[in-house]
Amino acid sequence: MSSTRAGVSAPRPPSTCVRRATQRAHAGRRSKHARYNCGVSTHQLLIADATLRGRPGHWQIGIDDGRITVVTPDGLTGHEEIDAAGGLVTESFVNAHLHLDKVHTLDRAGDAALSAYTGTGMGSALRAIELASAVKVEYDRSWIEPNARRAVIEAVRYGVRHVLAFADVDTKARLEGVIPLLALREEFRGVVDLQVVAFPQDGLLRDPGAEDLVRQAVDLGADVVGGIPWIEDTDADAREHVRRMCALAAEQGLRVAMLVDDAGDPDLRTTEMLAEAMLERGLVGRGVAHHARAVGLYARPSLERLARLAKRAGLGFVSDPHTGPLHVPVTALTEMGLPVALGQDDIEDAFYPFGRHNMVEVSFLAAHALAAVDTAGIELVYDAVTTTAATVLGLTGHRLEEGGNADLVVHHEPTLRSVLAHHDAPAYVVASGRVVAVSTSATEFRH
Ligand SMILES: [Zn+2]
Repeated sequence: MSSTRAGVSAPRPPSTCVRRATQRAHAGRRSKHARYNCGVSTHQLLIADATLRGRPGHWQIGIDDGRITVVTPDGLTGHEEIDAAGGLVTESFVNAHLHLDKVHTLDRAGDAALSAYTGTGMGSALRAIELASAVKVEYDRSWIEPNARRAVIEAVRYGVRHVLAFADVDTKARLEGVIPLLALREEFRGVVDLQVVAFPQDGLLRDPGAEDLVRQAVDLGADVVGGIPWIEDTDADAREHVRRMCALAAEQGLRVAMLVDDAGDPDLRTTEMLAEAMLERGLVGRGVAHHARAVGLYARPSLERLARLAKRAGLGFVSDPHTGPLHVPVTALTEMGLPVALGQDDIEDAFYPFGRHNMVEVSFLAAHALAAVDTAGIELVYDAVTTTAATVLGLTGHRLEEGGNADLVVHHEPTLRSVLAHHDAPAYVVASGRVVAVSTSATEFRH
């Protein structure tokens, strides 16, 4: 094996060798390299000269049949090789929360809902949901599909390997949102895996007919049963909402994912209801609480009580602190031993005007919102979009270790801090052991 490096000329490769040439832009670093291999016991894919989190030195990662077979400082060979050039290599990203049917709908929806959701301490969050609901009257799979496809392709670019994808399923949206997401799930499987949530965004008891549609979506193949109990008119209705959706999940052997307590009201208690129902229905470790922003307003004793219950229920949390002025206390819950992931939440929809499915950007924004900018904070927000997010979604094998899934990103930058600072697309994205995206960034300076 040999390679061209800055200032070093490569020997002419024998004609029988496999040649893989890749180009990268590294200002002031190597600008181009090629590798030529003749080994007989080579790995299918080799990532060379990698920097790893928490492991000093430079590493080689051998990959075969979609798995990481070896991680070693010793030299390896590969039929196809990536020169990480000292860049940080980590597990690829897991987006634990995205309203994928709504992406790129802000121009249709107008920004009245956006103002209501983000204003006055989230006191008008319910009104925002009602305003945003108007866009669903014109829901049609023919325009939802290309919007969602665009967001999934961006996931490939930014190394997002798994997405918990919510689709509104209610009497306005009908099945128009969930059907294209199920089709995209099949098309992108192995590159970007979608877990599709049948989500009754406008409530269950408030929207007669929604429950039937959620059941139909499950029959069509939705992976996860959704819910949003806090928007029901009474606590009794909220509890009934949780009960019915958890019963459906238990009956179908599915997981549950609910948007809970998503308003500026410390009296909201639907996170607790979800944890209780998971314990009652045998769904321990199979549920996720999303948003839970009101939990950020709880007094410490209420927070500790909830944390104990959530632990017993195996309830994971997902926070999206960039899409609203309140957020679940991510650091406190993490310290209490609960897994808390971060999600993109929205991409140009009625609730959030930005977003490009770049989970490093989500981490970067969260680092500010959570005041998590020291070393421990940066580690926490990066785990929250990789390994912790995998735990929250019940994924296995999402670890950069021998035997782990070969779902990796190779960053241009060598440290976690510099990766967050730049939040560029990774230089290479590896999914199921194959290179699926290569990104460069180059600037030509002129006088
Ligand atoms: Zn959301």
